[in-house]
Amino acid sequence: MVYQNTLAFSKQMDEADPLHEFKSYFYIPQHEGKDCIYFTGNSLGLQPRITTQYVQQELDDWAKLGVEGHFQAKHPWMPYHEIFPQQLSKIVGCKEAEVVVMNQLTVNLHLLMVSFYRPTQHRYKIICEAKAFPSDQYAFETQARYHGFDPADAVVEIAPREGEHALRTEDIIQTIRKHGDSVAVVLLGGINYYTGQFFDLEAISKAAHAVGAYAGFDLAHAAGNVELHLHDWNIDFACWCSYKYLNSGPGGVAGVYIHEKHIANKELPRFAGWWGYKKDTRFKMEKGFDPIPTAEGWQLSNAPILSMAAHKAALDIFEEAGMEKLHTKRKQLAGYLHYLLAEINRRHAEKVIEVITPADENERGCQVSMLMLKRGKEIFDELVKQGVIADWREPNVIRVAPVPLYNTFEEVWRFAALVDKLIS
Ligand SMILES: *Cc1c(COP(=O)(O)O)cnc(C)c1O
Repeated sequence: MVYQNTLAFSKQMDEADPLHEFKSYFYIPQHEGKDCIYFTGNSLGLQPRITTQYVQQELDDWAKLGVEGHFQAKHPWMPYHEIFPQQLSKIVGCKEAEVVVMNQLTVNLHLLMVSFYRPTQHRYKIICEAKAFPSDQYAFETQARYHGFDPADAVVEIAPREGEHALRTEDIIQTIRKHGDSVAVVLLGGINYYTGQFFDLEAISKAAHAVGAYAGFDLAHAAGNVELHLHDWNIDFACWCSYKYLNSGPGGVAGVYIHEKHIANKELPRFAGWWGYKKDTRFKMEKGFDPIPTAEGWQLSNAPILSMAAHKAALDIFEEAGMEKLHTKRKQLAGYLHYLLAEINRRHAEKVIEVITPADENERGCQVSMLMLKRGKEIFDELVKQGVIADWREPNVIRVAPVPLYNTFEEVWRFAALVDKLIS
C-alpha cells in the first residue's frame, strides 16, 4: 500500500472503503457539536445504535412474561447463551463447542486457572509477560499464593531486552525452555495492552507444550481485533472481555475458549455451578456434578440476559461486516497511522515520537502506542481539548486505536496532522 500524507488521499481511501457505512451504525461521542475522533475502541468500544432495541426486547419480554420468559421470550433466556458460539467461533477461530459466553474477564481467568493451573512441588511456574495488565498480575499472584507458592518464585515475567519495547519470540521461547519442566502454564496477553504487540501465539503454545505445560492467553486486546485461530494453534484455553473491540458495553459479559481435547474431560478440576450441568437432567437437581461436555460445562450461573442482548447486537454487526474486510481495513488504518507518524519524525531534526508498537503488521492489531519524546502530556491534553479521545499512560505514552468498524482514514489523517502541529 502506497500512502500519501494528504487530506484528499484519506478521503479517497474512505470512499473506496467497503465498510464506510458502518460508522453510522454507532453513536459517536460529541465534542462542541461535532463527532469526536474516538480512538479508544481498545478500551471501551462504542455503542451500536441497535443495542437499545436488543436490550429493550428482553426488558419487554420480562415485563410481559415474568418467569415464563425463560421459555417464551422471543429469544428464550434458558438457552440464550447458545446463540453465541456460531458467531464467536469465527471471531476467535475455534469450533463451536470450544467457546462459551459467561461472567467477566478476570473471573473467567481465575476459573480457567482452577482447571489449568494445578501446580505440583516441581511443576508450579506461571510464565507471563512483564507489565501484564494489572488484573492479570493480581490473578497470577493470588493463584500462586492460593496454592502455597511464593509469587516471586512462581510467577516468571519476560521483559523486553534493554532499549527495546517489544518481546522477541525467541526470548519467550528461550525462557520457557530455560524453566523447562518447572513450568505449569504459559499465560500471556494475546496482545499486550501497553505496547499493542501481538504475540506469536502458535509458537508460544508449541514451546509450552514441548516442556509439558499448558498454554493460555488473555485475549482482551485481541478478540474482535486480530485474526485468531485458537483451535488450529492448539491453544489450551483463552478468555477475553466483550467491551473493548467487541463493542458490547461497559462491564459486558465475557468469553471463554477451551480446546476440544479438554472440554469433555470430567477429571479436570473446576469450580462448578448449575449452569454447567447437563441440560437434560439439570432440573432433576440431584447431587453429583455432571458437566456438559463442551465449554458450556464451565458455566456457573444462569445467563445475564441484558448484557448478553447487548453482546448479541454487537456481534450481529461483526457478522454483517465480515472478518476478512475488517482485517483488511484494520491493517490499512494502522499502516496509515504508522506512515504518518514516521513522516512527522522525518520532518524533525530529531525523532519526536517513538512508536513502541511493532512495525510488522503481523505483530500488531489496531493499536498504535506512541512514546512521546517531547512535551507528551501537554500534547495529549491539547488533543483532548480538540476532540480527540485517546488514552494516556505514564510516563509518556499515548495509545490510540483506529478501529475498522467506526474509524476512518480521514480521522487518522486529521489526528496525525494535529499531532504534527502541536509538536512543532
Ligand atoms: C481490559 C483488561 C482486563 C479487565 O478485566 P475485567 O475483569 O474485564 O475488569 C483484564 N486483563 C486485560 C489483559 C485487559 O486488557
